[in-house]
Amino acid sequence: MPNRQQISELKETLIQRQERILKNINGSRDNIDQLKDQDIKDDLDYAEVISDSFTEGMIANHQLAELKQIEDAIKKIDDGTYGTCGMCGITIPIGRLKAKPFAKFCTECREVFEKEEAKKQ
Ligand SMILES: [Zn+2]
Repeated sequence: MPNRQQISELKETLIQRQERILKNINGSRDNIDQLKDQDIKDDLDYAEVISDSFTEGMIANHQLAELKQIEDAIKKIDDGTYGTCGMCGITIPIGRLKAKPFAKFCTECREVFEKEEAKKQ
């Protein structure tokens, strides 16, 4: 298990990331609203507005997914289950947690999980 000091550093990283994402998401919502407020004079402009909103939406969705993972990780820190693999239960190496503080699985299980996910699509 990561020690107390490592956990509090990781939690700090998670919270900072969480705040940045929330700011980004709110920022892109403002952009989309601004675009919608603009006068759309012809179909070309409209297409541009739509595709910009679509791209913004895709980015926001990706960030929302990450936000969820960050929230899960913070919850785990709070109830003391943080840092163990959700599949095989081994302790996730601290190096991996530092690279990806919201990692749920160890490297091997992550590969298995990704293969399973790829099969579903
Ligand atoms: Zn594992």
